[in-house]
Formats: sequence, C-alpha cells, structure tokens
Amino acid sequence: MPKFRQTTEILKLMGRKESIRNIGVIAHIDHGKTTMTDSLLAGAGMLPTEIAGKARFLDYLEEEQKRGITIKTANISLLHEKNGNAYLINLVDTPGHVDFTGKVTRALRAVDGAVVVVDAVEEVMVQTETVTRQALDERVKPVLFINKVDRLIKELKLSPEEIQARFLRIIRDFNNIIEIYGEEEFKKKWKVDPANESVAFGSALHKWGFTLKIAQEKGIKFTDVIDAYKEDSYQNLSKTIPIHNAILDMVIKNVPNPAAAQKYRIPKIWKGNLDSEIGVAMLNCDDEGPTTICVTMTQTDPKEGLVSTGRLFSGSIKTDDRVYLVNAEKEQRIRQVSIYMGALREVVDKVSAGNIAALLGVEEAKVGETIIEVSHKSFMVPFERITYISEPVVTVAIEPKSHEDLPRLLEAINRLSIEDSNLMATINRETGEYLLSGIGELHLEIALKFLREYSDGIEITAPKPTIAYRESVTKQGKTVTAKSPNKHNSVSVKVEPLGQKAENVWASDENKNILINLAKDSEKLHDVKESIVAGFKWACKAGPLCKEPLKDVKVKLLDTQLHENPSYRSPAQIMPAVRKAILGSFLTAKPTLLEPVYKIVVSVPYKWMGECISIITRRRGKILASEHKGALTIITGYIPVAESLGLSEEMRSATSGHAFWQSFFDRWEKVPENMTVEVIRQIRERKGLPPEVPKLDEFINAEHST
Ligand code: GDP
Repeated sequence: MPKFRQTTEILKLMGRKESIRNIGVIAHIDHGKTTMTDSLLAGAGMLPTEIAGKARFLDYLEEEQKRGITIKTANISLLHEKNGNAYLINLVDTPGHVDFTGKVTRALRAVDGAVVVVDAVEEVMVQTETVTRQALDERVKPVLFINKVDRLIKELKLSPEEIQARFLRIIRDFNNIIEIYGEEEFKKKWKVDPANESVAFGSALHKWGFTLKIAQEKGIKFTDVIDAYKEDSYQNLSKTIPIHNAILDMVIKNVPNPAAAQKYRIPKIWKGNLDSEIGVAMLNCDDEGPTTICVTMTQTDPKEGLVSTGRLFSGSIKTDDRVYLVNAEKEQRIRQVSIYMGALREVVDKVSAGNIAALLGVEEAKVGETIIEVSHKSFMVPFERITYISEPVVTVAIEPKSHEDLPRLLEAINRLSIEDSNLMATINRETGEYLLSGIGELHLEIALKFLREYSDGIEITAPKPTIAYRESVTKQGKTVTAKSPNKHNSVSVKVEPLGQKAENVWASDENKNILINLAKDSEKLHDVKESIVAGFKWACKAGPLCKEPLKDVKVKLLDTQLHENPSYRSPAQIMPAVRKAILGSFLTAKPTLLEPVYKIVVSVPYKWMGECISIITRRRGKILASEHKGALTIITGYIPVAESLGLSEEMRSATSGHAFWQSFFDRWEKVPENMTVEVIRQIRERKGLPPEVPKLDEFINAEHST
C-alpha cells in the first residue's frame, strides 16, 4: 500500500475507536522484540521484506546500532485487515535493556495492550517478569508471542512432543506472572490461552508465525513447519503464515480498543472525579470532550526541537490549539501535530481521542505531564505519577575538561534530562560539582555519550561513579522542640520508623517519608501549614548523617507555639524550626544508613558457575538460586549496588566473556553495622562536609525536652 494512501486511511480510522488498538512490545533483552517489530513494519508494507530483520528499522539511532540494543522508544502507526475490517494499530516500541525500564513504564502508559515476546530457548526470564509486571501495574493487557521456534527445531532438534511440552511450560510460567502480579478483577480474564488467540508462536527472524486459529484456518500442522525446516523450504513459511498476521490478529482479538480500555484504565491512572465533565469524557474516550493528553515520551529532533509524544484520552488536538500543562503550570501553543510512521513523523491536521500524537510547541512538558485544553485548566487533576521500578542510584560527578565549555555542557545536561527523566541532574552546593544520577553504570555510560554528542564533542571528565544512600531511623526518637530564628515560634516533633497505619497525613514524599499532624488545630496552625510542610520536605532532602535523603521516616508534629502576628511567623521563620526539630529528633532515633541493592541474574555455561557465584559472594552478595536451563545455568541473587561497580569486567575475564548478567534495583537495605561509620565518613569527605556527624545540640541549641 503506498504511504500516502496509508496516511489517509489512518486518519479515517482515528475516529472509529472500535478499530483502534494501542500496543507496546516488551521482552527480556535479545528475545527478539526489535526483529519482530521490524517484521510487522515489513508486513504493513512500510519496510521492504528483505530488509526486515537486518535493518532494525526502529533502532535508528547510531548508538543503538552500535551497541545493538534499543535505547529510545520509537513509535509507529500501521494498518491491518482482519475479517474484511480495517484496523489502525498504534505501536510503541520500548527499550529492551533493564537499565532503561523507566522508559518501558512510560511507553506503557500510552498503550492498552502489550505483546510480550519470549524466546522459546531461554523461556521466561527475569526481565519478562519485570516488564509484564509493569504492564499489569498500568492495567495494560498482555498477550504472548513465543519466538525463535526455529531454534527448537534446527538447533535443539526437539521432537514435536518436546516442543509442545516446552510451549506449555512457557505459557504456564507466563500465566504465573499474571497470577502473582495481576489485580484480582483482571487476572482470570487476562491469562493467556492458545485457544482464544492470546498466544502466538513463530520465528521473527524467518518472519513466520501462527495462532491456533490461523493454523486451523490454513490447515497447517506443526509437523508441516518442522518438515519445512528439514526440507530447507522454511522461507515459504513467511508467505503462507506471515508473522504480522499472527501478531496483529492476536492483538485485534485480545487487546481492547481504547474506548473499552479507558473505562477501567482511567480509574487507575487518574484520581480526579470520574463524574466530572473531564472524567466522563476520558472514560468514554470522547472526541468531543475536553482535550486531555498524558505525555509519555519526549525527544529532541535536530531540526524541530523538542517533540513530545502522548496519548490522547479525550478530545482532539490540532495546530494552534492552546493547552495548559498541569505540572509545569504553563500555557503553551501547539505548533504542529503529527503521527508516527516508523522513525519519521507525518504532519497531520488533527489527532483525536484514543490515539498517540507527536506534538511540537509544548517545550515545558516533561514525561508524565498532563496536558489539558486551556478552557478546562482549573478543573484538571494530573494523571497519576508514572511509577518506576528502578531508581537512579548511581551517580557521577561530571566536569568539562576545559572550563569555557561549561555553558555548553549545562545546555546538554538540560536537554538530556528532559529527554530521559530517569536521569537526575543536580548540583552539589558544597563542592560545586555537577552530578548526574542514573539507574546503573551502563545507563550513565550511555548518558555521557549523549552529553558529548549534544555538546558537539566537548571533553567531559567523569571519575568513578558513586552510589546513592538513604538515611533512616530504627526506633522512636525523642520529642524535640526547636525555635524559629526570631525565637517567637517553636515546633515540637517526634520521628519514628514508618509504620503501617497513618492518619492526619499532611504530606509525604517519594522516599515514603510522611508528616502527620497531631498538634491542636487552630487557625494559626492552618496559616502556617504550608511552611511546616515545606520545612518537612527540606529536612527530608538531606539527613544529618551525611546529607543523603531520609527514607521511611514518620514525622509527628506534636505541638506548636506560634506568634499572634503573621509577619513574625513567615515561612523563613517556620521552615528552619521544623527542619531543625525533625533532624534533631532523627538523631535520637537510632539512625541508620541504607544502601541500594540490586537483584542480579547471571546466565552462564555450567563450567563457569562456580566463578560467578564466588564473585558475587565476595562482593557482599547473596545467592538465591541457581537453576539449569538447557546448556546454561541461571544464577539469581542480590548484590549491593556499591559492590557492583566494575562487576562486568571481573565477570567477563573470569568466564572468558561467557557470562551474561543483568541487575536491577530491588530494594534499600541497611549498610552492615561494622561498615556504617566508615561509609558515612567517606560520603562526608566526598561531599566536603566536616568529618564529624553533627550533634543534637547543633539543631536545637540545647533546648530540647524528652
Ligand atoms: P531485542 O533485544 O529483544 O530487541 O532482540 P533482537 O530483535 O535484537 O534479537 C536478538 C537476537 O536474536 C538477534 O541476533 C536476532 O537476529 C535474533 N533473533 C530474533 N528473533 C529470532 C528468531 O526468531 N530466531 C532466531 N534464530 N534468532 C532470532
């Protein structure tokens, strides 16, 4: 189908919600997501068939080509016919490396279904679990594609019975994930089953695939496929049972259309009033309702500047529309609206509800931003924060080699941190260093490459990465009262470990610190509530041990003495008093330091298993399990992030490059007691702080009660 015709057709279908499917493709690394996506493009006539599988069309960035992994999410819209009806499939490609799982989550917000690709040889792997769980968290319905079936036939030479047993095992393991992580109301309905077309089998590399229904309709048996390989005529399979028919039929049958999906997804991802005009419009995916968009990706186009991609949940969007960004609190004008055609964008007049649009003109929008048409701005509640399973726990201090390059570096940092919201750029005020935090060593390594590119190749120095820590408490602290700088106000607080129940919560933050009000209610207290919350957030940003953020701390506001005259109880008075009281009480609550811990999964030929286990345990790691899968041993364990630096190299040399490993953030854990003092000392030294941890007196000028 010529492309212009496709665009016209796509525009027509955009209004017919029952003909739309928004999907993502997710997988463990190397299971064939990119190859499969390319085959879909080829099937839709957007990429010559002979290039599919080789060109890796969606991997268009040079960096991705070189490393052979997908880093940025690319999108595409394509057409498919089933039973004589035309469908519009909006496909969002997602990265396969676990260091970028944040991006997977963001892409998932835009879609209603996910094709989970599983390698038939490796079977369900740890990242299959991670990405499927992320899909379930966003109420995105998964379907299963069992890929690389050619390898079972050609390499492993399995019998038809063995192949069937393996398929059943993969399906069982996959349904187990849905059982564990699925919400009660969906898990039964969402389990996959070949009988209802929610499982497809095939080879993305050889471009064939089928569902049971397709096999029945075409009268093809699995032994025919095996024979095709025996007779070396398997190339024909891509014509008799082309993969795109299998995948897209499966999607059309099993993934709900946007109008159906939004009915249950909106209550999960949006906490506004569902009976309001906006709520009703989103639940109904109504083109005539107010325009609402959730931004799921931002990317810089060298010519056009920042391109924001998002899912329209209601209304429509066109050039010159004025929109309001709820989080940025900014009004902006849409300069251009386009849809995706592979790596390219195609400018269109209008995109309507239930579709995915690329927008120019909303430069202030970060990923997760909520866009609303201006006339409804005061009624819009932002979409729920997109939750990431990973956290940026590894940091490098970066500096241009030559000082004149600093402005260019800062510009590049700014651009990159807008594009990749898993990257955090901060300045250490004590040392004046620019700090870049990411999910792991590889993530930062790639970020640095982008920074060099964006700043026209300036030389950047980045010494060894450092690890993020958190400060927490292990018992109830003393009540500490602190005065405001003008001595006219005082606040009393007590901190304790975060427990189960909490009422009267005034504030909370991303590190699960909460502020609870137990002080006597009064008008004065209400007047200063905002200052108290601001003081709480300030304290939580940097604890007394080594200025790392607090975590899992419950702060109880017990009492306040406030001056009658509001000008004596300004934020500049209240905030420092609150902060000092919290940090003071914190010091009396048996403080402790938490370090990030990765879950690590290593796959390695059996003969090197011992080496891998001893490397992990030497680095304070713990082994959970080791399990044989074919010729490989899969070792699962935990390792402190601090001990993971340089692990790749050690593992590579100990196993002659045969170990493949992945790690991802799992949890925060107490630093072993015998190491805490030394770790705190090192962090303080690195941050240029005085060597000694401050004493209680320094926070409250020796005025405290118990
Ligand atoms: P991704 O990391 O999930 O995007 O995986 P890729 O699509 O990059 O595939 C990883 C590797 O597996 C590449 O070398 C592909 O050629 C290969 N591959 C993908 N699909 C198949 C398949 O169906 N059969 C075989 N034999 N190899 C495949």
